[in-house]
Amino acid sequence: MIATAALILDPEKCVRCEICTRLCGTGALKGESDGAALILRFLPELCPRECRTCIDKCPVWALSRGPGQQKKEWHLKYPQCRICGRPSLPYLPLAGGTGTPGPAEALCPTCRRELGAQKLEEAAPGTPQPAGK
Ligand code: SF4
Ligand code: SF4
Repeated sequence: MIATAALILDPEKCVRCEICTRLCGTGALKGESDGAALILRFLPELCPRECRTCIDKCPVWALSRGPGQQKKEWHLKYPQCRICGRPSLPYLPLAGGTGTPGPAEALCPTCRRELGAQKLEEAAPGTPQPAGK
């Protein structure tokens, strides 16, 4: 049996880049999609204690090892952008709102900006785009 150690993901830091799932050579970290959400799944029995590939390559230091053995798998679900399919940021309930995402909230920041620029061009052709476009 492979000696495993707890792998901890900090969802506050994770930017859903999927580098970890692409680099994991054992299948311990996998990215799946159910059509509406990206699911990041961790299977501890496939993760040898000595491996640190995903921990060292995560660009925002969202992964770390915890103490002791880890026996249970975990998964995190991130909503996917309804245009490009990339993982979007978690839905943030608007003040006084229901917490149910509206159409604009189901977009990643890039598609939200591009859609905004397209709407501005339709409403007022020739208007200079905001800086950064
Ligand atoms: S590499 Fe880091 S930031 Fe990217 S998906 Fe994995 S945990 Fe998140
Ligand atoms: S530590 Fe290695 S085996 Fe474990 S999830 Fe990360 S890349 Fe995969």
